[in-house]
Parts: sequence; C-alpha cells; structure tokens
Amino acid sequence: MSDRYAVIGNPVAHSRSPSIHARFAKQTGQDIEYGRLLAPLDGFVEAVERFRDAGGRGLNVTLPFKLEAFAWAARRSGRAQLAGAVNTLRFDRDGARGDNTDGAGLVRDLEDRLGLALAGRSVLILGAGGATRGVIGPLLEAGVARLTIANRTPSRAIELVDDFLRAAESRAPAGSALPGTPLPAGRLRGCGFDDAGGGHDLVVNATSAGLAGERLPIADALLAGAVLAYDMFYAARETAFVAQALAAGCPRACDGLGMLVEQAAESFLAWRGVRPLTAPVYEALRAEAA
Ligand code: NAP
Repeated sequence: MSDRYAVIGNPVAHSRSPSIHARFAKQTGQDIEYGRLLAPLDGFVEAVERFRDAGGRGLNVTLPFKLEAFAWAARRSGRAQLAGAVNTLRFDRDGARGDNTDGAGLVRDLEDRLGLALAGRSVLILGAGGATRGVIGPLLEAGVARLTIANRTPSRAIELVDDFLRAAESRAPAGSALPGTPLPAGRLRGCGFDDAGGGHDLVVNATSAGLAGERLPIADALLAGAVLAYDMFYAARETAFVAQALAAGCPRACDGLGMLVEQAAESFLAWRGVRPLTAPVYEALRAEAA
C-alpha cells in the first residue's frame, strides 16, 4: 500500500499541493498517495490524529491551522521554533515532528529561480500574518541587511517583530545560522504602511488582499525603487499586486507559485529523504494554469 500524505486546512479544495506532490512522486519514483483533508474549524487535532492513526505518514498544514499544528507537534525544527508556526508534520515513531518550510521556499525561489542574491539587501514585507511569521528567520539567515515588516494594522507588525526577537533569543537552535542574535537595532522593524521608509530592493506582498483583487494603499515610489516585487499570492492570471507594481514602475514582478512549489519540495524532502527537481514542476503548473 502507498504511504499516505495530505494537506489539511479549511478551506482546502483550492489547494494545488496534491498536484505538486503527485508530480514529485512520479519524478522520484516514490510510492505515495497525497490527498486533501478538510478539518472543521474546531476539530484540527481530532482530524490529524484520525489521519495518523489510520496509517497516515505526514501532513501539510494550511490556513487557519499553522499555529495549532505548532502547539500540537511533539518536536519542532529550529525554523518552526523561530516562526512559531508549523506547515509540515511528519509522523515518526517517537511522535510528530513539526517543520516550517515557507521561508526556505521563498528564499529558494528568489535566489535560485529568480536569481536575486539576498545578502546585503533591504527587504520590505507587506503584511504581518502567518506567512510573514514563517519567512523572517530564513530571510535574515540569507543575509538580508534590513528587513521591514509593514502592516495595515501597525500594532500587529510591531508585535510580530517583538515575538520573533523573543523567540530568537530563547528558541534559536544551537548552531543556528541566524547571525547576530540579538539582532542589531534597526535590522528588523515593524510599522504601518505609511512608515515603511524607502530604498527597499525587494518588496514582498504577504497580505491576503490579493484574494479579493484589492490594491494595496502604498506609495508608488516604494515599488518603483525596487528591483523586484514579489507577490506570495498566486493565480492563473496576473495578480492585483503584480499589476500594481508594474504600473508603479517596478521593472520586475512575479507571483508566489514558485514559493509554493519550493516549500512543497522541502516538505517532500523531510518526508521521503529525497529532494525533487522543482523547475519542471513549476513549468508544468504554470502551463496548466495558462
Ligand atoms: P493571514 O495570516 O490571514 O494574514 C493576512 C495579512 O493580510 C494580515 O497582515 C492583514 O492585515 C493583511 N490584509 C488582509 N487584507 C488586507 C487588505 N485589504 N489590505 C491590506 N492588508 C490586508 O494570511 P497568511 O497566512 O499570512 O497569508 C498571506 C498571503 O500569503 C495569502 O495570500 C496566502 O495565500 C499567501 N501565501 C502563499 C504561500 C506560497 O507558498 N506562495 C505560502 C503562505 C502564504 P491586518 O493585520 O491589518 O488584518
């Protein structure tokens, strides 16, 4: 019988993860079956334990359960500790291990596929939700010189930065590549959209405004001055943020399909011990969407 995996969330019908993991399995010759698991909003733990007890080997976790998955996991990777959120569960004999692959996925997509070396860059992230939480540590580890988190509700960005700094001091794993903990003042800061400052090389949209196709209330100059605008949201058509960035004068903008494929490859590696090639899977999904 094939080893069973799934993505758990609510909603989950839209998830591209089954298609991605089916392609990874075929490419690497791994015998797995990967499905979707819709959990009731108040029934995450019960759904996970039922899946595990029926022989399931691992889960990807999506909205709105990443914090619950963090709390439930018996053991956690260093990057999950820093994020305070889990998007990958692996059911080992000695308990469930939680990991967070979102940040590694973003860094890999930016550096390997898009060719943007992050060391020394100034990065602005718009939004202070679960996705931002997962990418702060990996961006700093990649050598980003200045990381600004700007949010519609400024207090949430400030709280997120405070939480991260506390976690970095108390939970940063031994041997962590996170340089300079505690971080030098000003390297990481939270604020509102109006206080985002200027001179950012990369602007990342990590808000959920894209779901409704909404424009973000940020100055055109922020986008015009960047070398790349990156939308974590992805869609078959050009996303609202990609359109906004290009119209504002940003020379290059792309959506988050590459991050999705890369974070999935990190999960696959954690489960199966083999890293799939992501470029052909990215190309196939892009062609399928078109
Ligand atoms: P989340 O935890 O719900 O956070 C949502 C964030 O968006 C909050 O900061 C919220 O600000 C902000 N926001 C919502 N509507 C807004 C609007 N109209 N204008 C300005 N800000 C708005 O969501 P998440 O999990 O972080 O996900 C964020 C996005 O990243 C989603 O589009 C998701 O699909 C995407 N994502 C992609 C990948 C990938 O692999 N490509 C992985 C993870 C997430 P307030 O605090 O003011 O409410």
